[in-house]
Amino acid sequence: MGLFSKETAICCICGEECDFPKYRLADNRWLCQDCVKDAGISDTSALKNMTKEDVLGKFSNNASYDAMARKMYKYAVDHGFGHGWNETWGVKHFRVVAEKLLPGEEFMMSFIGLHNYVSATKHDQNFAYVITNKRILMGQKQKIAGEKFQAIYLDNINDITFTSGLILGVMTIDTIKEVFNVGLDKNSAKEISSKVLQVFHDLRTQKEPAPTAQTSDSTFSAADEILKFKQLLDAGVLTQEEFDAKKKQLLGL
Ligand SMILES: [Zn+2]
Repeated sequence: MGLFSKETAICCICGEECDFPKYRLADNRWLCQDCVKDAGISDTSALKNMTKEDVLGKFSNNASYDAMARKMYKYAVDHGFGHGWNETWGVKHFRVVAEKLLPGEEFMMSFIGLHNYVSATKHDQNFAYVITNKRILMGQKQKIAGEKFQAIYLDNINDITFTSGLILGVMTIDTIKEVFNVGLDKNSAKEISSKVLQVFHDLRTQKEPAPTAQTSDSTFSAADEILKFKQLLDAGVLTQEEFDAKKKQLLGL
């Protein structure tokens, strides 16, 4: 066995023989180029500090980001909130947003529009827009590398208004820090604007616990209360009639 002996490197993920380039992990296992790509690992210099388990974790993150991005894109297309784009385009750009979602952040709606729209020839190209229960998120994957991303907490939005132009509809988002325009396809601008306003209205009126949460919360506390009264009944403090009446009242019957 000399320096030039050919060591067969079997990828610890896919079990295939690794072509060049191949990567040695921290646990001395090999990883092939295809699996690096599939796991969504862009910084290969980090691999020498990762174990097989770390790589597997990346795989599941990668798959869930892709699934979320696909859902966001599909929503926009299914509602006519962006067309002329294929799924590859959509997943690429919505993924920028999907990766930034915070725990507990819920997807409400998505659309595609021209960012920082000034005129038909002056804008930052198409962005993927997502409204969640917390923020408006906007993202764009850059052609060569990197991405553009911006998020605004709904609390920091003063107003959202719409104007209809000859070629495009324009959505104006007025925030505490800045005002910017989004150019929307004229055919879908109306539907997007009414959906955005509806989502905002719904979020504002449900600012306190959502109806479903409220029901389950009050059911939960009602059950607690009933248990307390049951103890009073068992202790002979309450009569059966008094307990029944209290129980009915607590359950809202
Ligand atoms: Zn592999």
